[in-house]
Amino acid sequence: MAAATGLLALAESRMRGRMTILTFHRVLPDELFKDYLFPSLAVSESMFRGQMESIARRCQVVTLEEGLQALKSGQAEGDKPMVAVTFDDGYADNVRVAAPIMNAHGVRATFFVVTGFIGTDAELWYDVAARRWQIATLEQLAAACRACGIDASWMKKAKPDIGHWMSFLKRLEPAQRANVVAELADPGPLESRRHLDRLMTAEELRELVDAGHVIGSHTMSHPLLPQLDAASLKAELETSLSQLQKWLGQPVRGFSYPNGDHDDRVRQAVADAGCTHACTTRTGRNGPEADPMRLSRIDMHPSRASGLHGEFDEPSFRASISLIHPYPWSR
Ligand SMILES: [Zn+2]
Repeated sequence: MAAATGLLALAESRMRGRMTILTFHRVLPDELFKDYLFPSLAVSESMFRGQMESIARRCQVVTLEEGLQALKSGQAEGDKPMVAVTFDDGYADNVRVAAPIMNAHGVRATFFVVTGFIGTDAELWYDVAARRWQIATLEQLAAACRACGIDASWMKKAKPDIGHWMSFLKRLEPAQRANVVAELADPGPLESRRHLDRLMTAEELRELVDAGHVIGSHTMSHPLLPQLDAASLKAELETSLSQLQKWLGQPVRGFSYPNGDHDDRVRQAVADAGCTHACTTRTGRNGPEADPMRLSRIDMHPSRASGLHGEFDEPSFRASISLIHPYPWSR
């Protein structure tokens, strides 16, 4: 126990002088968390409360811009580790479930939102793909691929799990991917969780800004940016930023690459569109030498802060955010 405590203290000392950025997607009420289709993308409300209480007590919580400024000016060497909280996608649970907990602990976060879906009732493509996958048989998945002229021999034996199905779809061309998903049967609207599964509205974004949080862009439609031609890439970035500026009455400078996918061309396009910092999904923390257009983060997979029964466990959480664990499940 003493050795474990020493190891944790040593690992946390390496957080000093650097910015540790946490990534969240969904925060769901405990009873809805249990049967969510993408368990790796959500944490339960009770776990999130434990995480926020912990960083509010043990860390200096900053916004990305404050953290970058502190790194640049050499003022990041406080006693407490510097931590920033980010959310990708912009689901309604962020404002309804997560924000009240953060507000109570004085934690201000950055929300990277898929602007084209803000205020609409449309589902993001991967939610559609996942819900159609859920009701499809192996034969139906294979038939959908064959109907679009795509080799489906890799899933001959058993229905692929959700992780394999999604990574297969992500490797397809955008039009092919849309065609395959369109071939699958539609399970109909999801009413039970719809109040949380929709994205936020423009009023809800303003509500977050009024509470001291920051809004950033996550594109218009969540495409995998390296697959886009120059014109579509520019449109995804510029339309999203100008729309957010119109809603919020202030310029938006932060960006998060969908799926973390970026290359030098995409990085440059994001900078050219006016962003001063951008988050990847690469695991790590950021020192003064970090490229602000390629910030590393730590994905808050629920297992990274769980005790034996899935409850919040502070030593596991501290180990995760101080990078003690290797991250074999990193995406
Ligand atoms: Zn995303």
